[in-house]
Amino acid sequence: MKNFRRQVGALAFALGVSATFILLSGCSADLVVDEEEDEFKTMHERMVATQIEARGITDPGVLSAMRKVKRHLFVPESLWDIAYGDHPLPIGEGQTISQPYIVALMTLAVEPSKDKKVLEVGTGSGYQAAVLAELCGSVYSVEIIETLGKRAQGILAGMYDNVHVKIGDGYKGWSEHAPFDAVIVTCSPTHVPQPLIDQLKDGGRIIIPVHEDGEQELVLLVKRGDELMRESIIPVRFVPMVDDTGATY
Ligand code: SAH
Repeated sequence: MKNFRRQVGALAFALGVSATFILLSGCSADLVVDEEEDEFKTMHERMVATQIEARGITDPGVLSAMRKVKRHLFVPESLWDIAYGDHPLPIGEGQTISQPYIVALMTLAVEPSKDKKVLEVGTGSGYQAAVLAELCGSVYSVEIIETLGKRAQGILAGMYDNVHVKIGDGYKGWSEHAPFDAVIVTCSPTHVPQPLIDQLKDGGRIIIPVHEDGEQELVLLVKRGDELMRESIIPVRFVPMVDDTGATY
């Protein structure tokens, strides 16, 4: 009996020690994670203040979406340290995630609101789609490169239930879900695709980087009946819009 008690005592002690060890190691791992989270938070907040607000974007909805969506989660882990920098970043397959300011500017241009259904052409990492998902009722996004589309689909599915990603050629839009209140195009064609105009509601807006005369410019189009009002915003550099043979549009 005595022996048994001693054994139980020893076992309890051993369990206690390992529990304490697990607890302590659990604590230090938490501390590392917390410190890392804090570092991202600081870089994230600085990104919004210096790159977005300081450049004149004051819309509270756009600012809050830019503050909420964690950009580092959309880029390869090897780039997390520079995920909040003032530049585009590679996301694989020769494609890039746009500079944060351009994402904010394009989001603002479509006048997002909860009653709007938006089409995005060029899902890429899914970051722009996430920012739109924070502000719009629903987002339909088309990506032509399967590996990118699938990856973005996976990330976005864990965060939002109002984003739908399809692998396909976004030049053709997404007719099953048309008409859209707005279209945001994040790859550059040489002209505005007619299907995107056709799938836009009257009064709807398209923001698109158009490549004309050797220059790329971000252009805002507003549909008024049969007419399109056109306004040039700023020069930009996006990857080209391609078809499924890889030829540029
Ligand atoms: N909005 C993205 C950035 C995309 S980069 C983000 O937030 O990360 C442009 C993307 O457009 C690339 O992933 C490219 O593969 C895609 N693309 C190019 N041509 C396309 C087309 N015809 N249809 C759909 N996607 C296209």
